[in-house]
Amino acid sequence: MEKIDIKSMNLEELTEFMEGIGEKKFRAKQIYQWLHQKRVDSFEEMSNISKDLKHKLEEQTFITSLEKIDVQISKIDGTRKYLFALSDGNVIESVLMRYKHGNSVCISSQVGCRMGCKFCASTLDGLVRGLTPAEMMDQIYKIGKDIDERISNVVVMGTGEPMDNFDNLIKFITLLTDENGLNISQRNLTVSTCGLVPKMKQLADMKLQITLALSLHASNQEKRKTLMPVANSFDIHEVIDACKYYFEKTNRRVTFEYSLVGGVNDTDEDAKELTELVKGMNCHINLIPVNPIKERDFVQSNAKVISAFKNKLEKNGINVTIRREMGRDIDGACGQLRKKYIDRKETK
Ligand code: SAH
Repeated sequence: MEKIDIKSMNLEELTEFMEGIGEKKFRAKQIYQWLHQKRVDSFEEMSNISKDLKHKLEEQTFITSLEKIDVQISKIDGTRKYLFALSDGNVIESVLMRYKHGNSVCISSQVGCRMGCKFCASTLDGLVRGLTPAEMMDQIYKIGKDIDERISNVVVMGTGEPMDNFDNLIKFITLLTDENGLNISQRNLTVSTCGLVPKMKQLADMKLQITLALSLHASNQEKRKTLMPVANSFDIHEVIDACKYYFEKTNRRVTFEYSLVGGVNDTDEDAKELTELVKGMNCHINLIPVNPIKERDFVQSNAKVISAFKNKLEKNGINVTIRREMGRDIDGACGQLRKKYIDRKETK
């Protein structure tokens, strides 16, 4: 019999499961709190659970637990990059960012990625598999325990395309926001997508209060296609319409991420087109100086160009910020730490 992933179950499912094995309902809540509030990694630690029940649970279920294999700490801003091993030997990375308003964790949603964005290190070796809800949660649990502080914000912006792992993403959101667990408010969660339109709409229809971030990175369809293969499946206007739909359904302001690539998408013409594209929308644009990866020859726009680009948008009444680069001195870009680890292992 295949063992059940007990940490991926929501309270309802766990209650059903407990009843199914002849246990009282309230046991489910106790176990749920052990897993998601006290964040234990074994049944042994559950002190108010009988030996018999522990034995039963051990036989039928397993507790997902990531193993920390590396952490790099930035001397500049305290950002921490973690490398975790999963039980099947795959590795993923997660990032802790310390802000004045609290601790934010950036998690991976997949092992690798199949979206193929040209500037991104996470996609270079393709997709291995989606992460389970518990594997997404445990990145936050392990980091919270490691620093012994509360995590107040979560962004799904690490390796992987969350909308390409939709069902597990939704389950993860249920676990993350449950009052018997970390109890993080939906408003403190951001999910970033390269723009899988049907899934964006599906998410909108669920009317959650999470922030949707769209990786735009270009101001027109032709240019977007050269940077992001996903644009071959969904036209830029379709994607923008999906963002408008998200706002209509949820009343949540959408964030556009725009990585500035020197000489590629940072001209005056780009700023003008971008203004036209998002005009009238309740949105926010996050400009990210592209983080160069060694496998590609993209370069960052220079500081002057970046600030001119920002000013141009601002003059047109658009809400815009330049994302502070966190952890500049550690393997910064998405997927670089993991890639380095894998490459090193392969050459051994
Ligand atoms: N797949 C999702 C989430 C993961 S990527 C998405 O596409 O949104 C998180 C963000 O980092 C995306 O906006 C992505 O385009 C951006 N990104 C990836 N590699 C980058 C790099 N080298 N420099 C700057 N931004 C990068």
